[in-house]
Amino acid sequence: MDLMEKLSILTDSAKYDVACTSSGSNRSGIKGAIGSACLPGICHSFAADGRCISLLKVLMTNICIYDCQYCVNRRSNDVPRATFTPDELASLTMEFYRRNYIEGLFLSSGVMQSPDTSMERMCRVLMLLRTKYRFNGYIHAKAIPGCSVELVQRLGTLCDRLSINIELPSEKSLNILAPDKTKENIIKPMSIIRDTLTQNKQELAVYRHASAFAPAGQSTQMIIGATPDTDWQILRLSESLYKKYSLKRVFYSAYIPVGNHSLLPKDQPPPLLREHRLYQADWLLRFYGFKAGELLDDKQPSLDPLLDPKCNWALGHLETFPVEVNSADKELLLRVPGIGPQSAMRILTARRAGLLSFDDLKKIGVVMKRAAYFITCKGKMFPGTRLTHSFIYENLTADTRRNSKGLPFSPETEQLSFFSIPSVPMLSTVNSRGGDGEWQKPSM
Ligand code: SF4
Repeated sequence: MDLMEKLSILTDSAKYDVACTSSGSNRSGIKGAIGSACLPGICHSFAADGRCISLLKVLMTNICIYDCQYCVNRRSNDVPRATFTPDELASLTMEFYRRNYIEGLFLSSGVMQSPDTSMERMCRVLMLLRTKYRFNGYIHAKAIPGCSVELVQRLGTLCDRLSINIELPSEKSLNILAPDKTKENIIKPMSIIRDTLTQNKQELAVYRHASAFAPAGQSTQMIIGATPDTDWQILRLSESLYKKYSLKRVFYSAYIPVGNHSLLPKDQPPPLLREHRLYQADWLLRFYGFKAGELLDDKQPSLDPLLDPKCNWALGHLETFPVEVNSADKELLLRVPGIGPQSAMRILTARRAGLLSFDDLKKIGVVMKRAAYFITCKGKMFPGTRLTHSFIYENLTADTRRNSKGLPFSPETEQLSFFSIPSVPMLSTVNSRGGDGEWQKPSM
């Protein structure tokens, strides 16, 4: 099999893994080395499915002795198989880098003969890149559940981000759909990574030149919609993973039907809107001081598809509102839909110079479309608003109810392919119409 054939099989097999972002690594170019991994990160991807372009996202091999029912590479699936040699993959990465196709590598692997065999081969690729080719760019590597402690530690010293997929939100689902994996052999490497990260931080504080261990931290991925697990279970698990294992990110991946197990959903579009709502809720846990139990509970275990989780929380807690923006503290400002961490800080700074009006808030970056219902300025509500559940719910969901295309991912929405003709205006067209040409992180 020639290299191009291998590349096509192994990049295609890797496209279902969404856990790739380089945010968190900050290493500028050094003399005598190639590449850099800077803080804004390399968040594009090389995959043809539209996710994460710009890292070469590839598997070492798609041969796998495990039979995870939700995975295209499971041993019982009849697909073409291929394996890179460490030399092939390392030189391919460098060739791509030199041609400016990619800025880094996202490397995962099927389980060849044992988790350790695959991990050893991955270590060899990274070792070649870091030593023979002096590659200093971003590398995200996936540890294999059940591998040895030494290999996790070795891989961590060679990559920027190390992750291990939790895969499914509950142990019960894991036992049914991934019988070769156990909760323990996923959790154990996570604890090793956490402990080694803590130890490494102390070493770096004492010895400036000590080698860094996974400087961009660890992350994980969870598949959404393959099992009946609820959003409440998923969020609770994410919260505990962030707390116990100091994860940088939990990635949620809408299940794309590739299996034929009787328990797996068939012929259903990937639940992309659910994935989107979970990312929003996850954002609230990490940056807004929310707890999972504030957003969902046993009685209401699913996120509202029509409303983002912060607006939903605010509607359930109208007794907290309206919030007077000229006197509220930061924690309370962060509870207001439409005010994010950045606009909260700007409000705190700007109001030192005088009382703020609704116009000032707009200039500061507050999303008035959402915030208007929940705030007062100088003691006055925004003209025309009422603090009642029905009024606010009607208005906040009007667009989405009127037109399903208003949903961030309507049923007609398709995942963008790298090669498809865009059905939305190109960024350049938006610019020519006066757009700012930059994706802004939305305030929730
Ligand atoms: S271990 Fe499971 S999820 Fe990973 S490649 Fe093999 S079958 Fe797929």
